[in-house]
Amino acid sequence: MDKQRKILILAGDGIGPEVCNQARKVLELVNNKYDLGLILQEGLVGGSAYEKTGKPLPEETLRLAKDSHAILLGAVGGPQWDNLDYDKRPERALLGLRSELELFANLRPAVLFKELTASSSLKPQKIEGLDLLIVRELTGGIYFGEKQRNESSASDLCIYHDYEVERIIRFAANLAKIRRNKLCSVDKANVLETSRLWRDVTTKIMASEFESVDIEHILVDAAAMYLISRPADFDVIVTENMFGDILTDEASMLSGSMGMLPSASLGDGAIGLYEPIHGSAPDIAGKGIANPCGMIGSVALLLRHSLNLHEEAALLEKAIYDAIENGARTLDIATNNEKILDTEEMTQVITNYLVK
Ligand code: NAD
Repeated sequence: MDKQRKILILAGDGIGPEVCNQARKVLELVNNKYDLGLILQEGLVGGSAYEKTGKPLPEETLRLAKDSHAILLGAVGGPQWDNLDYDKRPERALLGLRSELELFANLRPAVLFKELTASSSLKPQKIEGLDLLIVRELTGGIYFGEKQRNESSASDLCIYHDYEVERIIRFAANLAKIRRNKLCSVDKANVLETSRLWRDVTTKIMASEFESVDIEHILVDAAAMYLISRPADFDVIVTENMFGDILTDEASMLSGSMGMLPSASLGDGAIGLYEPIHGSAPDIAGKGIANPCGMIGSVALLLRHSLNLHEEAALLEKAIYDAIENGARTLDIATNNEKILDTEEMTQVITNYLVK
């Protein structure tokens, strides 16, 4: 079987399976419509994998993942697993997949759906024209450094190597080149040595390889402020792991709902992992009301980045826009007296636009 054509679906926990079922329908439709010959497989991940195998990332899942061209992941986690040891927690599966598959770049777009302006946490005039992409370094920094703890103190080592900075800056700058040619690198170079290395390497790479891309360096505290005060000025933002973790969640609120936005985790290799930015939403799990747009948008990113199907990806994104523009709303994005659609109905509206 051709590895290039295998897509692994890891539904996970909470609303993960609910939105993944819809993503699978969309992918099957695209597969048939464009005769892609994709083979869809499924595996266990997160808390549900722990319940069945004692591990959040079973060996069989990792084997299937390494043998796939791309992975669609729903979400992992839930209160019933919050007190497990660190290595057994559902979230460990995400760190395991990222490091085992060397997915060092996390891409999170934040765009404004005009019709959802009222759901944003900012005033309409502040977010008009919002279309930014955050590229977060995903496999280095403080989350992966050595951890120590004794009775009265604790430490987490933050370490970056120059090659880790070089590859993420190249990745982000290449994306800026096909967008609006603006790259903003976020660091804390006034305090941290890792940030001074980050800034030196960035300056060198940008001057020698990306002369046509405007580069701006901003401290992370200022970046957090500018994301609120002038978010539409940003094009591509690139930053290290922990700063990116925080800034991407901040940016997600600009668009209105956690349910709307997709993400992609990529590396130098062929495998890409695609997931919505939201978690397992235990508060609405099992009710069939989750917004599937972020998950379906992740299918579009999979088509673009893993299968090189740019036109098909854009058509799927347009189908999501068309659905929103024409008033299709799940509960989380309803603002007026619109009819509320459930997860399946929302998907049906999107697929109707896709096949039109
Ligand atoms: P969450 O994103 O799951 O939920 C935050 C809020 O947004 C909730 O009110 C939820 O109902 C709502 N929401 C999220 N997705 C939605 C959707 N598609 N449609 C409608 N409403 C939606 O974040 P949380 O509550 O902080 O975390 C819940 C669990 O998910 C935790 O166990 C956490 O560790 C885990 N988590 C997993 C991932 C992941 O798998 N990548 C990411 C974040 C959080």
